[in-house]
Amino acid sequence: MTTKNIMLGLLSCCLMAGFYFGLNKLMQNKKFTSYFADSYGTQPVEKKYQELIYAIKDELGITKPIEIRNMNATAIATLGRWNLLAYLDSYIFIGPDFFTEFTPKEQRFLIGHELIHIKYSHVFKRFVSLAFSFLIAVLLTILIGFYLRKVIQKRFLRLISYVMVYFLISNINGFLVLAYYRNQEYQADRDSSCALQSKQAGIDWFKRQLNYVSPIQVQEHPKTIWGQLRSTHPSHQDRIVYLETL
Ligand SMILES: [Zn+2]
Repeated sequence: MTTKNIMLGLLSCCLMAGFYFGLNKLMQNKKFTSYFADSYGTQPVEKKYQELIYAIKDELGITKPIEIRNMNATAIATLGRWNLLAYLDSYIFIGPDFFTEFTPKEQRFLIGHELIHIKYSHVFKRFVSLAFSFLIAVLLTILIGFYLRKVIQKRFLRLISYVMVYFLISNINGFLVLAYYRNQEYQADRDSSCALQSKQAGIDWFKRQLNYVSPIQVQEHPKTIWGQLRSTHPSHQDRIVYLETL
């Protein structure tokens, strides 16, 4: 191993550690998170709904402070009127139809699912895994590039080979990161259904969603295998099967 490789490795470790601790600090900073969260809505939800969500939060043993807000028109247009979203590991946004569209048991399962995302800082981990996958792709491209420089003489061909290597590694990393995201969804489904005894409600809700088509469903829950591999969420059918095995 050459000194150049060791220096590169050390620099990468410092960059990763800096990103990890810096982002962790930022995500605990209210000013930073509210700058982004305000674009989804600023109004708090009704007191009775706040109490319901905080009670489920206590049941799940979550001690992190959480703010619960109504989705604004922009968020509703993107996410749908019935939706629920955990955001930046400290906010929950609720669509205007959420509490009328689903049964109380389904509401418990869905609220629990979002709260589990917050409990395990899933959004923070998503950012970190994405940044690490990018850095690892760059690092490996540079290391392979040292070798390619010796075997490919023509500058143009060398440049093309660097691009191809980066493209290949970043795509493999991309699929791994997406598999990790889907695993977070399974974890949230599992913990919510087990801790709140809401497994059947979860299964019923996903079964209902199988026949419901919305723009976000097409985007997040594609039915083809290729589509599922590129998705941040498992398909509803896969989630039903998973819950049934618990
Ligand atoms: Zn989720």
